[in-house]
Amino acid sequence: MDLDLLERTLAELGEPAYRTRQVWQWTAAGAASFEQMTNLPRRLRVALAEAVPFSTLTVEDEARASDGTVKVLLQTADGRPLEAVLMRYRDGRRSLCLSSQSGCPLTCTFCATGQMRFGRNLSAWEILDQALHFRRMTPVDHCVFMGMGEPLMNLDAVLAACRRLPDLGISSRHTAVSTVGWIPGIERLAAEALPLRLALSLHAASPELRSALMPVNDRYPLADVLAACERFYARKRRRIFVEYVMLKGVNDSVGQARELAAILDPTIFKVNLIPYNPTATGLEGSTPGAIAAFAAELERHGLGATVRLTRGREIAAACGQLAAGAARG
Ligand code: SAH
Repeated sequence: MDLDLLERTLAELGEPAYRTRQVWQWTAAGAASFEQMTNLPRRLRVALAEAVPFSTLTVEDEARASDGTVKVLLQTADGRPLEAVLMRYRDGRRSLCLSSQSGCPLTCTFCATGQMRFGRNLSAWEILDQALHFRRMTPVDHCVFMGMGEPLMNLDAVLAACRRLPDLGISSRHTAVSTVGWIPGIERLAAEALPLRLALSLHAASPELRSALMPVNDRYPLADVLAACERFYARKRRRIFVEYVMLKGVNDSVGQARELAAILDPTIFKVNLIPYNPTATGLEGSTPGAIAAFAAELERHGLGATVRLTRGREIAAACGQLAAGAARG
């Protein structure tokens, strides 16, 4: 819901300022319509329903996997596609994966979003409406900005959304912002009061290979990115999660694990190995054996390593897969 539009509308209707807060409290608690907001006068509920769209987004498609993962393809009012995912874990965690942009200006070769055309930055309301979509389905408590887009290239809107996520049940400590290594954004996050978690998409320890997979590495080289992460840690004392997507025959050898261990300080970084969800890129995921050997080598060097649970693979829940599929028809 566009709360600026709501506020203007309430002012035009001559309503007191506290109405905005009332509407937001209902919305953040999972209300599905103005009609349900029973502490608002009926005529006001009707007037709001006419003047303020309940969501800035419409649902174009929804896919549900047997593991409880729900993925939605959404659309902005001006027709831009984006995706969001709800992941349910056995320990009861309900985690959201949100998009910060429609499409992405970066062109990581393995990523379905990177192959699409960049649309635009999403507004804070468009980011919050993804979370509210799922909040209407279930209580939620964790969030990662690992959907479409580079959140640190749209940091004002991401931070504005993060300031309101606690009202939905998602604290900043349970919110992670994932970046390709956009240094100005890492620096701003380090100076920011919100205790957000930082995740770094690393994918290759060697500069040549990283530039081949992630062209942004030419602009912000890995050594500089790691130095920025170290400053973030010095300031916030929060461990940084390194994401490393496992690509068969590309970045998954034991020697490459050793190279990775050599550049990461284990007191600052933990590695999360990501089984690759194959997309139309032609790249293949590593075998479970290769992933286990890679993880063991990192551990041997004292670096904490986990293998990400794959959720929703049967519904193409990886970054950009639904939107890219819809664009292909
Ligand atoms: N731009 C940010 C956030 C979006 S991508 C970033 O790059 O960190 C979130 C994560 O999903 C990244 O680590 C990305 O490498 C990973 N990813 C992208 N495509 C994937 C795929 N097909 N399979 C598995 N992980 C993928």
